[in-house]
Amino acid sequence: MSSILVFCSVQENRIKRSSLEVMSRARQLATENGLSLGAAILGSHASSLVSEATAHGASQVFTVSDPVLDAHVNAPVIAALEGILTTVQPRLMVAASTESVKDVLGALAVRTDAAVLPDVASFDLAGDSVVCERPVMAAKKLAATHTTHPLVFVSVRSGSYEASEAPVDGEEVAVPFHFDPATLGATLKEIVTQAGDTVDLSEARVVVAAGRGVRDEAGRALVQQLADITGAAIGASRAVVETGLFPATAQIGQTGKVVSPDLYFAIGISGAVQHTAGMANSRIIVAINKDPDAPIFDVATYGLVGDCFTILPLLNAALREAMA
Ligand SMILES: Cc1cc2nc3c(=O)[nH]c(=O)nc-3n(C[C@H](O)[C@H](O)[C@H](O)COP(=O)(O)OP(=O)(O)OC[C@H]3O[C@@H](n4cnc5c(N)ncnc54)[C@H](O)[C@@H]3O)c2cc1C
Repeated sequence: MSSILVFCSVQENRIKRSSLEVMSRARQLATENGLSLGAAILGSHASSLVSEATAHGASQVFTVSDPVLDAHVNAPVIAALEGILTTVQPRLMVAASTESVKDVLGALAVRTDAAVLPDVASFDLAGDSVVCERPVMAAKKLAATHTTHPLVFVSVRSGSYEASEAPVDGEEVAVPFHFDPATLGATLKEIVTQAGDTVDLSEARVVVAAGRGVRDEAGRALVQQLADITGAAIGASRAVVETGLFPATAQIGQTGKVVSPDLYFAIGISGAVQHTAGMANSRIIVAINKDPDAPIFDVATYGLVGDCFTILPLLNAALREAMA
């Protein structure tokens, strides 16, 4: 085995927390197995992120600095990664399981003859094998899976590992790249974000999620207050998204986003498996539900049984006072 390469997702000129989590695990495996650890960073500001990658243990940071990569259009991203893979020839490339990574991994695997283990909760090396655990059956079970293929791509669910620093004297390796934008079959015109979104849901450390129990505008305002006080991103169950009270971009679960914050508030959410599939990895779960038998209490760290319209004003006032 030669090396492990971490493909770093970038947002607002920072390496995403989920990529740093993956890097920390990859560093541990590289050390244990005598492998080198590299990072791949794409985009016009790639060079400015080299120090963040070396601070987390990457001894070589492969950059492709071209503005064509800033728009997250698949074709140039795949071409740039293919160039880096040709240069590095790693045994394993790992990445956080973000939407854009999911978009490119399959096509990249076909072009480079790699095996893909997507959306895993853990990854390991055992002899010639790359070994992973994948959540299946709405995350109720973990399936152990492995491959001995010579080149393997793994994408990892956020929150699966703790991000930690381990600075090394790394170097930047600028990888030559030429992509003619005129060949693009698709262009990205605009990235539309939900008005008022201040915290990225899939990267948030605190999430306040609303369910059907948050039945109206007054309930939504209480949820918003809790989110403002705790600096949280707002999520929602599918049931409350379908009522139109919360946007589809806020949906958490099997057919929505997967989140893994330090603190997750579930307000008026029953805890159906399709919902918990997207949040059960959260470190501390606080559930508010008026039904003491609601399944959400099976995964909750703390449970408050009662009407959220009574509990939330008290909780918000107490938290405001405590924060002050
Ligand atoms: C293929 C498929 C995919 C799906 N994907 C998803 C998904 O990605 N995400 C998702 O969330 N769901 C998903 N669902 C739907 C899922 O099965 C549930 O129907 C949904 O999660 C229920 O949402 P809920 O808990 O908000 O609503 P409900 O099940 O109606 O629960 C509302 C809860 O609020 C409580 N409550 C009511 N009033 C109050 C109050 N005043 N104070 C406190 N508590 C109160 C009730 O006791 C109840 O427990 C999917 C379903 C299918 C079939």
